[in-house]
Amino acid sequence: MEKKELLRKLPKMDELLKEDVVINRLDDTMRTLVVDSLRASIDEYRESILKDKINDFAKEDILSKFEEILEDSKEPNLKRVINATGVVIHTNLGRSILSKEAVENVIGVAANYNNLEYDLKKGERGSRYSHVEELIKKVTGAEAALVVNNNAAAVMLVLNTLCKDKEAIVSRGQLVEIGGSFRVPDVMTFSGASLVEVGTTNRTHLYDYENNINENTGVLLKVHTSNFKILGFTEDVSLEELVELGKDKSIPVIEDIGSGTLVDFSKYNFVYEPTVQESIRKGVDVVTFSGDKMLGGPQAGIIVGKKEFVNKMKKNQLTRALRIDKMTLAALEGTIKYYLDEKEAIEKIPTLHMILSSKDEHKKRAYSLKRKLQNKNKEFKFSVEEDYSMVGGGSMPIEKIPTYVIKVKSDKYKPEELEVMLRKNKVPIIVRVSNDEVIMDIRTMFDEDFNAVAETFSRF
Ligand SMILES: *Cc1c(COP(=O)(O)O)cnc(C)c1O
Repeated sequence: MEKKELLRKLPKMDELLKEDVVINRLDDTMRTLVVDSLRASIDEYRESILKDKINDFAKEDILSKFEEILEDSKEPNLKRVINATGVVIHTNLGRSILSKEAVENVIGVAANYNNLEYDLKKGERGSRYSHVEELIKKVTGAEAALVVNNNAAAVMLVLNTLCKDKEAIVSRGQLVEIGGSFRVPDVMTFSGASLVEVGTTNRTHLYDYENNINENTGVLLKVHTSNFKILGFTEDVSLEELVELGKDKSIPVIEDIGSGTLVDFSKYNFVYEPTVQESIRKGVDVVTFSGDKMLGGPQAGIIVGKKEFVNKMKKNQLTRALRIDKMTLAALEGTIKYYLDEKEAIEKIPTLHMILSSKDEHKKRAYSLKRKLQNKNKEFKFSVEEDYSMVGGGSMPIEKIPTYVIKVKSDKYKPEELEVMLRKNKVPIIVRVSNDEVIMDIRTMFDEDFNAVAETFSRF
C-alpha cells in the first residue's frame, strides 16, 4: 500500500476507545494510562510507515501493540538487571548486592511492625541507632558509632558538627571528585566549614599542615583518594603523623576513608587498602565510610570514632534530616553481623565473595554457560577467554582481578547492536563492548541466570 494511504488508515483515538478490548481495560486501569498506551501504539505504527518498515497492518495489530505497551508500563522502572560487566561494585547498577540474610531481614522489618524506636526490654521509646551501634563498635574497635544516609551525608555531618564557621585543613592532593558529583570541596562548603588547601597535588608535608594551623582551625581532614592514584614523585603525611599533630594542638583528626574496608585485602594477595580498624587503632578521632562499597551492605554512611565527637553529632539537628530508614538498618545489621567472623563475611557477603573468588572457580562456570549458549544458538560463536574484572565503586583503582569471560561473535549483528538488544531485554543484560567484541564477565553473573541468558540469545 502507498505510504499516504497507510497513514490515512491509522485509526483515530475516539474510534479505538470504542473497541471492546479497550473498554475492558478501562474497567481496571486509569484512563490516562490507557489513552497514553493507545497513542504510543499509533505513534509506533506511524513511525514504521514513515520509515517504510511495513506495507500493511490491521486494526488488531494496533490493539495488540496497545496491550503490550500497557503491560510494559505496569512493569517497575527500577528493576533487576544481569551484570555481565565484571565490575563488582558498579555504582550505576546499584553497587553492592545484599546477602540472603540481609534481604530476609529487610523483608521481615518492612512487611511487619517492628521495634525501630521501641526498647523491648524497658517497654519504652528507644533509639533507631541502637540496633547497629554495638555491632559497629565491636567490628571496628571504635568507642562510638552513628549511621546516616550515605557517606556524603556522613562527611557533611561531621564537618558541620566539628568545623562550622571554622577551617578544615586538607591536602591539595586529596580534593577529589568521586563520581555522582560528590566533590569534597563542595560538600565542605555546604557544611559551613571553610577549606584550607595545603601542599601541592603530588606532595604534602607535615609542616604544610602545621604552618596553617591557627585559632580558627576546626579539624585536620584526610580523604582517602579511592578512585585514582598519583604515581611517581609523591609525598603524603602519614596518619600517625597527622594524629600526633592533632593531639599536640588539640584539633580533631577526621578521615573520610570512602570504601570502608573491614577486611585486610593484602592477606588475599590484593593491594593494601586501609581498613577502618587500622585508622581507629592509630588514633583518628572520627572515620567515615560507605555502607554499599567494600563493606557489601546497603547505601549508608557510617561514622565511627571517639565518643565525645560522635555524641555531638547525635545531637546535631542535621542528623534528623540525614537519618537512615528501617529497611537500611535491617540490611546493615544483617551485613555487619558477618564481620564478627571474617571467614563467614567472605563467604556470605556477595561483594566480598565476588572480589575474592578465584579465577579457577569462574573457569568452570564460564564453560557451563558456554555450553548452554551453544546448545541453543547456532547463529553466534561463543568462546571462553581470560580477562580482568574490576572492583569498581572507586575502590582499588589499579587492581585487576584475573577472570574468565565469554566473547560473543556474530555475522548477523555488530557488537554495538548486540549490546543494545541485550540491554533492552526484559531482564536487561549489561555487557562490555571492547575491541569490537561483546564480552560477558562470569564473575558478576549468577548461575541461576545462565538459562535466561542462553534463552535471550536464542530469540535474536
Ligand atoms: C564513595 C566515596 C564517598 C561518597 O560516598 P557515598 O556513600 O556514595 O555517599 C565519599 N568519599 C570517598 C572517599 C568515597 O570514596
